[in-house]
Amino acid sequence: MSFTNLGLKPELARAVAEKGYATPTPIQREAIPAVLAGRDVLAGAQTGTGKTAAFVLPILQNLASQQAGAPRALVLTPTRELAAQVAESCRDYGRHTGLRTIVIFGGVSEKPQIEALRSGCDLLVATPGRLLDLAQRQLLDLRQVRCCVLDEADRMLDMGFINDIRQILKLLPRERQNLMFSATYSEDIRELAGRLLRNPVAIEVAARNAAAERIEQHVYRVPKEHKRHLLAHLIVSGNWHQVLVFTRTKHGANRLTEQLVGSGVRAAAIHGNKSQGARVRALADFKENRITALVATEVAARGLDIKELPHVVNYELPNVPEYYVHRIGRTARAGGSGSAVSLVSPDEAPLLRDIEKLLRRSLPVAALPAYPVAAAPAAGAPLARVAAVAGAHRHEGRRWQAGPGRRPPSRGRAAAPSASFPRARRPV
Ligand code: AMP
Repeated sequence: MSFTNLGLKPELARAVAEKGYATPTPIQREAIPAVLAGRDVLAGAQTGTGKTAAFVLPILQNLASQQAGAPRALVLTPTRELAAQVAESCRDYGRHTGLRTIVIFGGVSEKPQIEALRSGCDLLVATPGRLLDLAQRQLLDLRQVRCCVLDEADRMLDMGFINDIRQILKLLPRERQNLMFSATYSEDIRELAGRLLRNPVAIEVAARNAAAERIEQHVYRVPKEHKRHLLAHLIVSGNWHQVLVFTRTKHGANRLTEQLVGSGVRAAAIHGNKSQGARVRALADFKENRITALVATEVAARGLDIKELPHVVNYELPNVPEYYVHRIGRTARAGGSGSAVSLVSPDEAPLLRDIEKLLRRSLPVAALPAYPVAAAPAAGAPLARVAAVAGAHRHEGRRWQAGPGRRPPSRGRAAAPSASFPRARRPV
C-alpha cells in the first residue's frame, strides 16, 4: 500500500517520500480516501498515529491550486504548540503544491498575523480564541472555508473552547466538509459530532494504541485497602524519581497524597479545587524533581504539559477506557522507555475488561511484591508484612481471565488478597 494508491497526486506523494514515510499508517489509509471523496470524518486518534498527515494531505489535494485569498480550509487546534506543528506539516506536505498556510494563535503579538492574513492564504491553522477575535474584528474572512477540521476536539472542549468553536462555526459557510479528531469520546464529543458532522465516516484506528505499545504496561491485582501500601512500596523500592499518579476523585487525590507523604514519599496533589498558584507550584516542583509523586485527577492532568515521564500509575482505573490510553500516553514519549502500572481492585474488574477490549489485548498481571502494610498509623504498631508469594501470583492473571468460574490460586494467608477477587470472565 502506497500513498499514490490512496489517490494522492504525485507532488504530495513526493513530499511524503521526502519525509521518509514508506507506507501510510492505518488512520491515513482510512481517512485519506474518505476526505478526498469529500466525506465528513469522525476519527478516534491521538498523537503518534499519523493523524495530521491523514487530514492535511487530502485537504491539500482538494484545495488543488493556489489562490492565496481568504482561507479555504481551516484547522482548529487546542494549543499554539499543536497549531504550529500542524502548520509546519501543511507546509512540509504542501511544499510542491504552492499552497500557502498561515498559523495564528494567542499569547503573541497579533500584528504579524494580521499582516500575513492580508497577503492571503489557502489553509489557516488556528487556536479558537485568537481566531474568533480577529474574525469578529473583520480582520479575517471565513466565508470561503470549504473544509473545517477540529483537531484534538476533546482537548478543546476540556480547555473550555466550546463557545468559541460554536461562534466560529457560525461564521463558516453552511456547505462545507467537517473533520473531527479526538483521542477520547465523551458525551460532549458525541454531541458536538452529532451537531457538526453529516453522515460521517467513523474511523477507529487500532494503531491509535501504537504509542501505548511502546509502553511497558502491567497490572497489579490488589485489594483496594492495600493500594496505598503497594504504591509507596513500588516508589520507594523501585527508586522512582518521578511518577504521575491518577486518582478518580479530588478527595481521593488529597487523601492519597497525605498517605504517600506519611510513607516518606514527597508528593503533591493537583486538581480542580486547588488554586492556580498551588497547581503551578506543584507542577514546577514535580518537573524539577523536588517532589517524586504528582497525584492528579483526570481533568487536572489533561491540561498539564508534562512529557516523557518514566512512570505513570493508575491508582484507580478510569471509567472511560479511552482515558487509559490518554493517561499512559504521558510516559515513553518520543520513543523513550516508560512504564504504566495499574492497581486494580476486584470491583474494578469490569473497567479493566473494557480497557483490554479497547486495546485488543489483555494486560499482563505482575506478581505482587512483598509490600509492607502499615498497621493503624496512630497505634505506631510495627509493620506487618504481606508476604506475597510470587509463584502463587504469576499465572493469576491469565487464569483469572481464561477460566470462568475459577478462582486464582491462593497459597495460605500470604496470598489471601488475591483470593478475594471475584470470578471473572474473559473479555470478549
Ligand atoms: P501525528 O500523529 O500526526 O502527530 O504524527 C506522528 C509522527 O509520525 C510525526 O512525526 C509524523 O511525521 C510521523 N508520520 C506520519 N505519517 C507517517 C508515516 N506514514 N510513516 C512514518 N511516519 C509518519
